[in-house]
Amino acid sequence: MALLSTTDFPHQIVETEGFAHKRIDLHSHTNCSDGGLSPQALIDRAANYQINVLAITDHDTTAALDIAQKHIEDKNIPLTLIDGIEISTAWQGFEIHIVGLNIDKENAQLKSLIAEQQSAREQRAITMGEKLAKCGFTTIYDDAKQLAGTGSITRAHFAKILHQQGHVSTMQQAFDKYIGKKGSKGQRAYVKPNWCSIEEAVEVIHQAGGSAVMAHPIRYDLSAKWLRRLIVNFSEADGDALEVVLPQMNNEQRAKMLGYCQEYNLFASMGSDFHYPSRWSDLGRNLTMPVGARPVWAQWQ
Ligand code: AMP
Ligand code: MN
Ligand code: MN
Ligand code: MN
Repeated sequence: MALLSTTDFPHQIVETEGFAHKRIDLHSHTNCSDGGLSPQALIDRAANYQINVLAITDHDTTAALDIAQKHIEDKNIPLTLIDGIEISTAWQGFEIHIVGLNIDKENAQLKSLIAEQQSAREQRAITMGEKLAKCGFTTIYDDAKQLAGTGSITRAHFAKILHQQGHVSTMQQAFDKYIGKKGSKGQRAYVKPNWCSIEEAVEVIHQAGGSAVMAHPIRYDLSAKWLRRLIVNFSEADGDALEVVLPQMNNEQRAKMLGYCQEYNLFASMGSDFHYPSRWSDLGRNLTMPVGARPVWAQWQ
C-alpha cells in the first residue's frame, strides 16, 4: 500500500504533554481475536496512516503483541506499541468490556485470568454451537472454530459464518436473530457467558502494572441511570479511565463522557476499536483528546 498523505486521511494531531504531537489510537483488534488483519498487517496500516502510538487490545488475549512488536523492529517502523487487552466482564446481567493498557503481558495473574477467560469462551462456543445446531445449522461450531484458528473465539466468528452461509443477511442480523442478548433472556442461541467481574479485571490489570479503561461506555444500551451506576461501580473498583472518544461518538456524547471523568476523577482514553477496514471506521480516524481531559497516558510518564 502506498504511503497515504495526511490529506488522504483526516487525522488530528493531539497536543498533550508526554505524547505531544502524536497520533494515538488506544483500541484495536487483530485476527488473534475477531479483527480482520494479522498483527503485521495492522501495524502496516497504522504506519501508513502515520499513527505514532497504537494499542492492540484483542479480546481476552495478548497473542498479537509479540508478533506485532517483532514486525515493528524487523521493519524499523516508527511506532510505539502499547501492550493491551480487552477483557470481557459480567456486571448486573450486562457484558462490560474493560481494556487494559500498558500491561506486562508476562504477569502471572494476567496469564491465569486469560486462561480462565479462554476456557469460558470455549465453553460458551460449544453451547452456542449446540443451540445453533438445533436451529438447523449443524456445522457452525466447526466452521467458527476453524475461522478463529488458534485465536480467541468470539461471537463475531459465529456471526460471520452465519452470514457467509446465507442464514442471515448481515452480521448484525446474526446477533439480532440468534446470538445476541436483547431483553432478559437473549435470542435462541444466546448463551450466558461466564466472564470475570469488573473488580477482578481491574485488579489483574493493576497487578500487571497497567491502566484499566472502561471500553465504549456508550455502547451498552444503558439508560442514563444505569450508565452512572456502572461508572460509579467501575470507579469504586479502582478503575482508571473511561473511553471518552470513539470515532462514532458525536460531540455531545464526548462532552458527557468527559463530564463523568471529571465527576469521578477518572482519566480519559480514546481509540477506534478498529476490527477491519470499513466505510465508517478506521484506525486513528476522528480521534482527538478533548480539552480539559486528563489523558490516560499521563499515568505512564
Ligand atoms: P464476544 O466477545 O465473543 O461476545 O463477541 C462480541 C464481538 O462481536 C464484539 O467485540 C464485536 O466486535 C462483535 N459484534 C458485532 N456486532 C455485535 C452486536 N450487535 N452485539 C455484540 N457484539 C457484536
Ligand atoms: Mn470485537
Ligand atoms: Mn468491546
Ligand atoms: Mn474492542
